[in-house]
Amino acid sequence: MTLEQDILSRRTFAIISHPDAGKTTITEKLLLFGGAIRDAGTVKGKKTGKFATSDWMDIEKQRGISVTSSVMQFDYSGCRVNILDTPGHQDFSEDTYRTLMAVDSAVMVVDAAKGIEAQTLKLFKVCKMRGIPIFTFINKLDRQGKEPLELIEELEESLGINAYPMNWPIGMGKEFLGIYDRYNKRIEQFRVEEDDRFLPLDEEGHLAVDHAMKQTSYYSQAMDDIELLNEAGNAYSRDKIDRGELTPVFFGSALTNFGVQTFLDTYLQFAPTPQPRITEDEQFIDPVEHNAFSGFIFKIQANMNPAHRDRIAFVRIVSGQFDRGMNLTLARTNKSFKVSQSTQFLADDRETVNTAVAGDIIGLYDSGTYQIGDTLTGGKKTFNFEKLPQFTPEIFMKVSAKNVMKGKQFQKGVLQLVQEGAIQYFKTLHTEEIILGAVGQLQFEVFQHRMQGEYNVDVIMQPVGQKIARWVENEEDVKDSMHSARSMLVKDRFDNKVFLFENEFAMRWFNDKNEHIKLYSLL
Ligand code: GDP
Repeated sequence: MTLEQDILSRRTFAIISHPDAGKTTITEKLLLFGGAIRDAGTVKGKKTGKFATSDWMDIEKQRGISVTSSVMQFDYSGCRVNILDTPGHQDFSEDTYRTLMAVDSAVMVVDAAKGIEAQTLKLFKVCKMRGIPIFTFINKLDRQGKEPLELIEELEESLGINAYPMNWPIGMGKEFLGIYDRYNKRIEQFRVEEDDRFLPLDEEGHLAVDHAMKQTSYYSQAMDDIELLNEAGNAYSRDKIDRGELTPVFFGSALTNFGVQTFLDTYLQFAPTPQPRITEDEQFIDPVEHNAFSGFIFKIQANMNPAHRDRIAFVRIVSGQFDRGMNLTLARTNKSFKVSQSTQFLADDRETVNTAVAGDIIGLYDSGTYQIGDTLTGGKKTFNFEKLPQFTPEIFMKVSAKNVMKGKQFQKGVLQLVQEGAIQYFKTLHTEEIILGAVGQLQFEVFQHRMQGEYNVDVIMQPVGQKIARWVENEEDVKDSMHSARSMLVKDRFDNKVFLFENEFAMRWFNDKNEHIKLYSLL
């Protein structure tokens, strides 16, 4: 296989969902189809451990394949599929958002009974901002959920995206009969064995064979809905799907493994091959045409296992091929070095990766060299990829060293972790107390753990709580007197002024009183 063919076989995506929608279950089914695991029930998800790599490690041991809590890889139907995990509520962090910078498309899993939930919405927004294709899997059809039309409407309204149902449920819950597959022009029956699982449709789109299903009210309801969709629904447009403006919607039931394979087959026809990325000088780096290696670091994972002190930097390969032992240049420092320690995943038995190509994710051992957003290049020419976006933190914590004698170490540790992108830095105006900001609680725990483990400093953490952070366009108009308990005025690490509002109400009140102050949020 040529390098080009190798690269074009990659499909790199993330599955996003609110906790409990069924992400783990669906991932497990995908791995099953890919032959990466043998038995369902192997993937238990993150409920067992806080920093759960353990569940995946079992699978790795069983099969010796590249599965981790972070990156899963398998071959299916001529494609090499890379699935990047976006952790659930407890593990939610800026890394979760940044992971979406490293994929070429996303699959959004929605619980049919719950509709669009908070965390899905957050992650969706990041995908939308990137303009990547988003595919929707509406799950748990084996249970009674909301009406399908209602779900589509909710999806379009709350997410601001158009939807195109690729298939449509016939009945639901106890009366779930199957799905009407608009795309493949057939009906797929629920709980029917292979041979007569698929029923053909005639030219008008009706069930072509004489079948008991035809007599049911669920069938006629589905046909009425389909007619409505054909007449008044969004038109199918491949272009809009590619631009992330139209989301193809699939219905199914991950637990009973219904509709998942149909979804996967169709998804892989649409999912983009590795996409080009833009440099700071606005050059496009094409995965194939730019034949030298390049990549960027989107995540640095501190190892929570005390037996391994090192960290792993996750690299999304943008172009070319990675070979173990090759020389890479870190664009930020312009230093070159030989990369001999690389891994495809995190586990007890770490598997060394020898080659990987554009679209793949590799892990590099890091002893403090890398920062999030760093560019690595293999060719003669070095460059920086566009900066990764910074996300508006939502939770805040005042931090200080327990032992005042360790002030220096404390400062050093905070600075490094902030630079690395593990957490965001703020300080109060005159007293210069340090306040850290994060999008998820886990970031504080990692911070505390690493300060202790890597800098030998015990940290006192005082919760400041949830705040709405807003930066200011016209800083010169901001007066110290605008600071109050409900609208704290602080500075970020670049000395920009930032307001931390207690809640929406406090922000509106401030806006009304200070109309001339122009506030904005990061992503
Ligand atoms: P995650 O938090 O999104 O990874 O969700 P899980 O995959 O862990 O699923 C959450 C719960 O929903 C588990 O108890 C699953 O067994 C259940 N579940 C997942 N898919 C389905 C489905 O299609 N039907 C039903 N009835 N339950 C499901």
